[in-house]
Amino acid sequence: MEGLEDGRLLVRAEDTLLGEVVEMPVDMVVLATAMVPAADTEQVAQLFHVTRSEDGFFLEAHPKLRPVETATDGIFLAGTCQGPKDIPDTVAQVSGAASQALGLLQRGSVLIEPITAEVLPLRCVACGLCVEVCPFGAIEMVERRGQKLAEVNPALCKGCGLCVAACRGKAITLHGYSDQQLLLQLGALLRPAELVAIG
Ligand code: SF4
Ligand code: SF4
Repeated sequence: MEGLEDGRLLVRAEDTLLGEVVEMPVDMVVLATAMVPAADTEQVAQLFHVTRSEDGFFLEAHPKLRPVETATDGIFLAGTCQGPKDIPDTVAQVSGAASQALGLLQRGSVLIEPITAEVLPLRCVACGLCVEVCPFGAIEMVERRGQKLAEVNPALCKGCGLCVAACRGKAITLHGYSDQQLLLQLGALLRPAELVAIG
């Protein structure tokens, strides 16, 4: 606040987008307090594998196409867990999230991705790298016949392929996208001479 101009309050501030100091006479100044995510946001995010924004609030799957959904199926967002918002926005979002949840329950079945990852047990050395990189929490370490190895839950896997790229021992394959299948597709596309050049 800089004082008075023609009996009105004069606000002096920096417009960070323009990089200029601006002044404007106003009738009233309302200061809004800052809002930060709840203290247990990180814990909840880890539990449900929900991603967070730079500010630490929960992040929607897509700001325009899936505004109340998260990257985890069946987990929906509503209210200020997603960031500061007013009551009308919150009420509208709650209605949307409730409709989405109801639709899921009424269908009675869940469609899963046809392309999912699979661990080749004989190659897995249980390094745990795939568990760390999977953004959907679809991989866990299990024990089979005394051997520790990674296992993919196909109901959670979205087929993103991150684990396949991360596994140094090539112990994970994506259904329909094995090295052999990709090479065969290339073979069908390229002329024999080009194949020889690549090989
Ligand atoms: S990254 Fe590969 S080797 Fe390591 S635990 Fe996962 S599947 Fe096994
Ligand atoms: S393909 Fe993607 S979603 Fe599926 S297990 Fe691998 S990293 Fe997770």
